[in-house]
Amino acid sequence: MSELHKFIFDGLPVRGMIVRLTDAWQEILKRRAGNTGTGAYPAPVRELLGEMAAAAVLMQGNIKFNGALVLQIFGDGPVKVAVAEVQPDFSLRATATVVGELADDATLSQMVNVSNQGRCAITLDPKDRLPGQQPYQGVVPLFGDRREKLEQLSEVLEHYMLQSEQLDTALVLAANDQVAAGLLIQRLPVTGEGNLAGASNEDLIGLDEHYNRIAILAKSLKREELLTLDVDTILRRLFWEEQVLRFEPFAGETGPRFACSCSRERVSRMIRSLGVAEAESIIAERGSIEVGCDFCGQQYHFDPVDAAQIFTSPGDQPPVEPVVH
Ligand SMILES: [Zn+2]
Repeated sequence: MSELHKFIFDGLPVRGMIVRLTDAWQEILKRRAGNTGTGAYPAPVRELLGEMAAAAVLMQGNIKFNGALVLQIFGDGPVKVAVAEVQPDFSLRATATVVGELADDATLSQMVNVSNQGRCAITLDPKDRLPGQQPYQGVVPLFGDRREKLEQLSEVLEHYMLQSEQLDTALVLAANDQVAAGLLIQRLPVTGEGNLAGASNEDLIGLDEHYNRIAILAKSLKREELLTLDVDTILRRLFWEEQVLRFEPFAGETGPRFACSCSRERVSRMIRSLGVAEAESIIAERGSIEVGCDFCGQQYHFDPVDAAQIFTSPGDQPPVEPVVH
């Protein structure tokens, strides 16, 4: 079961979150692997997309915002686009477009930042958008302060958090075929009493000793540990000297889960709108109609009989019971 855990450090201006996507992540991989048009994601893309899905849940969990959080990478290499989208209720989907071959050990820059032109965009799309209201979007490059290519998605997103929120953030991300997981530690914004001296969040970057200590502990977590250990064990191992206060986790119905708005009915309506002549010519050419969802990779297959049924008006559709000859 996929889960999101939030916690704070008692009396310190530091908060944290751990996400573990299991069933939700496996569903994303399964839909893509079952698509005969695309086939499964290459191994390094699976890792990248899993890290993006985990990071997007953490970022959605970190804000109070009624709308979708969309984390996108626009690549200049074989991976053209990778997207993870998380709704306020933590339902999520993810997809990537890959063109050409990729080595099994391809690095982040070999996938999406070959000429240092790749970029990462974070979009907050309000649910009830007012007329003329644009979604908020922040964009960061995939290189560091000296234009050096970043090889970890966590570094890219740490830069983004620092730029957009002026908040120190430490991220550890990891994904394999079973689990996509992430740990986030963030310095809390200064408010009220703590801010009497007029210090801005920006002034405090890198200077909070409590945050610095906890971030170093967090960064000592190995990817393998993040993927294999349960949340209780991770928190105990990393922060056994700290006072960690935990909130009720989001799991099951309230937790992260896969959801896509595509369905066989929707695809049928789309085929009907093509018109019978177009549908018949596709059938004549390819033997069937295959439609893949752009947002999750699910493939919908319509053989000639399925396709003919789409164009039978609802009034005279045959009974649904199978006919046994
Ligand atoms: Zn879909």
